[in-house]
Amino acid sequence: MHIFEKITELSDFLNSQKILKKSIGFVPTMGALHEGHLSLIKKAITENDIIVSSIFVNPTQFNDPNDLLNYPRTLESDIEKLQLSGCHILFVPSVDEMYKKDAIEPVIELGHLENVMEGAHRPGHFKGVTTIVYKLFKAVMPNIAYFGMKDFQQLAVIKRLIKQTSLPVSIVGCEIVREPDGLAMSSRNIRLTPSEREAAPFIFKILSEVRTRLNNYSIDEIKQWVIKSIDSNPKMKVDYFEIVDADSLMPVYEKKLNANLQGCIAVKIGKIRLLDNIALFS
Ligand code: AMP
Repeated sequence: MHIFEKITELSDFLNSQKILKKSIGFVPTMGALHEGHLSLIKKAITENDIIVSSIFVNPTQFNDPNDLLNYPRTLESDIEKLQLSGCHILFVPSVDEMYKKDAIEPVIELGHLENVMEGAHRPGHFKGVTTIVYKLFKAVMPNIAYFGMKDFQQLAVIKRLIKQTSLPVSIVGCEIVREPDGLAMSSRNIRLTPSEREAAPFIFKILSEVRTRLNNYSIDEIKQWVIKSIDSNPKMKVDYFEIVDADSLMPVYEKKLNANLQGCIAVKIGKIRLLDNIALFS
């Protein structure tokens, strides 16, 4: 696996491959890699000639300085995992490399995506996400980029970025990879204490029950039930639970036949904030 730290060196190498008509699949990450990340690499391998992954803990998308400070960094073992997974190129830039003075930054109009769920609870987060993903896309210029549905709203934001910038990149959303007990894999899980880790699968247990409750209860009743059930565990506090249209991400207040809905949740367990979501078909 080639490892690059500079944009020009990465681009030069990739351009030499593009001339040979090699297709490029890209998996951006913030490191502390787990099977969720590696599932994106595996999917990319089946659809592209060359797989590029990046590890960059992007400061501009952290609205909580402590979260940035404590974000897990495990570069050595990440490199090993990527090598074993069959990734060809790793890009690990510094903050200075990605945020050079006078660099052009995109202005992306996120509309209501900025005002719901993560957008509402983490001011500036998606501006940071779109800025760094745009810069990474410009550096890699992949044919296809892979994102996890674990960050459901982020996936919608990236699709919006592509629409507005007309970058020729196809976006593929990949299924959530879970621990055997149902907890969605996340780099932040390693920061849970043993008792918090034991409590955490309750989030997915409750989300799964929403599917059956949808037949017998109103959206409002279900939302209240989810929040009450999870908050009844003294270790947990729901930041938000929303039932949204899976395409527009607009909150839904009334059940409709054949609607494609998504239940999206953010929960704080101790100092850690976890996200999860589930498809709901009514
Ligand atoms: P992160 O390193 O957390 O920024 O994640 C990098 C990419 O991996 C994003 O597209 C995430 O949505 C995706 N990802 C993270 N966790 C999972 C998971 N459990 N299953 C599938 N994809 C994931």
